[in-house]
Amino acid sequence: MGNESYEQAIEALKKLLIEKGELKAVAAAKVEQITAELQTGSSSDSPVERIKQGFVHFKKEKYDKNPALYGKLAKGQSPKFMVFACSDSRVCPSHVLDFQPGEAFVVRNIANMVPPYDKVKHSGVGAAIEYAVLHLKVENIVVIGHSACGGIKGLMSFPFDGSNSTDFIEDWVKICLPAKTKVLADHGNSAFESQCAHCEKEAVNVSLANLLTYPFVREGLVKKTLALKGGHYDFVKGSFELWGLQFGPSAATSV
Ligand SMILES: [Zn+2]
Repeated sequence: MGNESYEQAIEALKKLLIEKGELKAVAAAKVEQITAELQTGSSSDSPVERIKQGFVHFKKEKYDKNPALYGKLAKGQSPKFMVFACSDSRVCPSHVLDFQPGEAFVVRNIANMVPPYDKVKHSGVGAAIEYAVLHLKVENIVVIGHSACGGIKGLMSFPFDGSNSTDFIEDWVKICLPAKTKVLADHGNSAFESQCAHCEKEAVNVSLANLLTYPFVREGLVKKTLALKGGHYDFVKGSFELWGLQFGPSAATSV
């Protein structure tokens, strides 16, 4: 960021704080504090310091110790996996499945959902799938759900009667509405928590089905250059379940 845009950002922040009705003195003090932290990273728990320390650690312990890998990656990537995972801070697939740089092309969003093919509504996800399948030629697409997923709780809780209480979330999680319908039909008498746990896996199946709406995915499956897999990571039990396109936990592999 150049100085000019930095100054502009500070000015905009000042304006915002004042507009929000805070006393000018309070706003000025806040701006000074934030500016000082940004410039010096002096506070040990400041975000700038945390990011700097994180990169220094990565550079020293990983990047500098593996010139062969990072040299190869500098020339290009050819990941075997495309992974859909939730944005939840506890479920990073690189941590949970030990993916190394270059191994997995990752999309993360609320409740790890794959929307159906739609050039207007879901071009971001479509572009990622198209790039992964046609250009990177990934061999597997894995959709990974997880325990205690807030997005799935939302899907199970929202009434979807047109009375939206969120700007984006309801519209997004609605993608897996068929999973909610199935869970309510199969486990209508179960406790809410249990319904959510079932829905975490059913929503993965809906996403796997939605992947079939992308012509290049279907083509990869027919040619057997591509396989689809569903997964579920339970961070309460510390377990991982993996299943194929045949849908259903009976064929699952548990770890
Ligand atoms: Zn989640």
